[in-house]
Amino acid sequence: IFNFSAGPAVLPVPVLERIRDEMLCLPGAGASIMEISHRSKQFIAIHEQAKARLARLLNVGADHEILFLQGGARLQFSMIPMNLLQGREQPAQYILTGSWGKSALPEAQKVGPVEVLFDGKETNYDRLPDISKLAIKPDASYVHITSNETIQGVQFPADLDTGTAPLVCDSSSDFLYRPYNMDRYGLLYACAQKNAGPAGVTVVILKKELLERSSAELPGYLNYANQAAADSMWNTPPTFAVYVLGLVTEWLEDTVGGLEKMHALNQSKAKVLYDILDQNPELYMGHARKQDRSLMNVTFRFPSEEIEKQFLAGASAAGLENLKGHRSVGGIRASIYNAMPSEGVQALASFMTEFAQKHG
Ligand code: PLP
Repeated sequence: IFNFSAGPAVLPVPVLERIRDEMLCLPGAGASIMEISHRSKQFIAIHEQAKARLARLLNVGADHEILFLQGGARLQFSMIPMNLLQGREQPAQYILTGSWGKSALPEAQKVGPVEVLFDGKETNYDRLPDISKLAIKPDASYVHITSNETIQGVQFPADLDTGTAPLVCDSSSDFLYRPYNMDRYGLLYACAQKNAGPAGVTVVILKKELLERSSAELPGYLNYANQAAADSMWNTPPTFAVYVLGLVTEWLEDTVGGLEKMHALNQSKAKVLYDILDQNPELYMGHARKQDRSLMNVTFRFPSEEIEKQFLAGASAAGLENLKGHRSVGGIRASIYNAMPSEGVQALASFMTEFAQKHG
């Protein structure tokens, strides 16, 4: 089947094959990755390689720290304000372009002063704000965005410039889909289970100067400075998930050829589907405003639930699975992350074209 799930999502086939081949015995270790110590030289090498590959792919310089944490993106909804906002007078400013930003907000409100700079509720989260019109405070504790709203399919296409206010970005559902200008980010975080690996590890990349904000009063696990000092091994790390993250970054560097190439592939995959939406606007009613469409999650509705049912049944019969939209918005969502091959997108496009001929 082709799996269009929003997450946990598909992994590149060569990565799955490598995991299968190395599952019983990691080369040089004499045991499975799941059986070796996180203090062993084999695991330390895997951990260091994964960090080094991420740093090369994203052009992360010495002024940033790369952490591998647990608890998913949702724990970051709390850890970010606990470390960067607690005890400060300057507010954190949140830009809400969909469900995940909305979920991050109340976690920050529990910790310190928060302002909402933009809330896309009025138009049902179908668009991005005009950034030049937002009242970003130069001394804000941070500005939080969700670079790709997984449920609505609305995505920031470029790195925002928030000036002296540190930009904090939830990149869970578009991490590594294009090159980034990391200088723009105070903190970038992503759970792995869409573009970067299996559930279990969350990548947090933050400016070292922000580590000074972490209070010693914080619980040890939740303290970024503590995690950085321990190189993300304050407790036993999710060794298997870090290993797979390492394999995905290796695939991105050595097989895909880097993030510029990945971006071009993602642009061409998404174009195939959006062209079909644009050719059949009365049948495939796109959710996101055209200029704010996501390259990762293509969302649309039908004029009736009956047609939607027929679409989903027909797609499933053709081996195209997990296309049902999130329960909160309904409709269809085709998630086409980095690992979705062009053949999968082509198969969906052929099905959609045929379906439109029958129902258009
Ligand atoms: N943020 C975004 C943009 C997401 O897409 C998701 C999950 O789908 C999350 C946060 C929550 O991630 P987790 O389940 O790892 O906490």
